Amino acid sequence: MFGQHRDELLSSFLRVAESGAFILQEDVTLFEEGLATFCGVNHAIGVGNATDGLELIFRALGIGPGDEVVLPSHTFVASAAALVHVGATPVFAEIGPDHLLDPGAITAVVTDRTRAVMPTQLNGRTADMDAIGAIAEEHGLIVLEDSAQGLGSRFNGRMAGTFAAAGVYSFYPAKTLGALGDAGAIVTDDSELNESLRRWRDHGRDGHGGGVNQWGRNSRLDNLQAAFLRVKLAHLGEDIARRREIGHRYIDGLRDVEGLVLPPRGDDGTHYDVFQNFEMEADDRDGLSDHLSQVGVGTIRQWGGQAVHEFEGLGAFPPMPRTEGVMRRSLLLPLNTSLSDDQVDYVIEAVRRFAHS
Ligand SMILES: *Cc1c(COP(=O)(O)O)cnc(C)c1O
Repeated sequence: MFGQHRDELLSSFLRVAESGAFILQEDVTLFEEGLATFCGVNHAIGVGNATDGLELIFRALGIGPGDEVVLPSHTFVASAAALVHVGATPVFAEIGPDHLLDPGAITAVVTDRTRAVMPTQLNGRTADMDAIGAIAEEHGLIVLEDSAQGLGSRFNGRMAGTFAAAGVYSFYPAKTLGALGDAGAIVTDDSELNESLRRWRDHGRDGHGGGVNQWGRNSRLDNLQAAFLRVKLAHLGEDIARRREIGHRYIDGLRDVEGLVLPPRGDDGTHYDVFQNFEMEADDRDGLSDHLSQVGVGTIRQWGGQAVHEFEGLGAFPPMPRTEGVMRRSLLLPLNTSLSDDQVDYVIEAVRRFAHS
């Protein structure tokens, strides 16, 4: 939130604006270094947004026409759109009870054209990357991560985005680390891929003197956004701690309410969740969201309440009963670092009153 770091953000703006350092300048480099350290990876590459980041990864790895990539349908349309834009085919697999790609559902949709599997690290939770890695190895698939919502979350101590050949983070303002506009980053441990991605994001140039080595895109992380992100990254640890506190407060306050299915706590030593969203299921989801809206609590149906394969304008896809069931039952309670405990308790009370009415 801007207000929480107003003075630091304003002085970053003045520093960058007055020095005229707008494109691929020091703030981008310093933010990339800070992010790589935070995630425990060798390379972070700032890009225009996470959607572009995914497309650049596919292009750098040569994923294109004739290739299929397995992903969940309970994801933002961007995960699939990035595949379509490089000419590859998105193939959807079902989700498990935690709303993430179900490793057990991957094999059923693998064909001899499958090149990669790409879990979405949704709601600030990391999928079971051991199981996904094992299946990928069995079928010779590349693992990629749409970790746009995953920054800070962990599985067996390792951060979302860092298990795969490459992962992306989004710094869209509503994300756990939000810029003041569009921004994203790719992370990888592979130095060749790092070099290639840096060319892809900047017109195929290698950054030294303007020579062009290949066709490329223009998708650079804006230096001004990088400066804002450096400010926010320094506070990310506190922000994540507060998100977890709020997520756990909801769970503790609602665990005995009938008709709800709450998200996991994500503190069992295997999963470490950061509650990018608090997505829960309710038997009477629509009744609950109407009631909450009447008492001044806004809730959200993620992606407008439809999984990607359900948007008719995108083509015809096979039905996915488990995913569709979750989409009909789930909603997001308010969760951001500017909420006070009293506001969280107000939401909890409002949900409880609806359940007991
Ligand atoms: C936000 C989001 C994206 C897109 O991120 P942008 O930076 O807005 O391009 C992709 N996938 C998921 C799961 C997201 O939540």
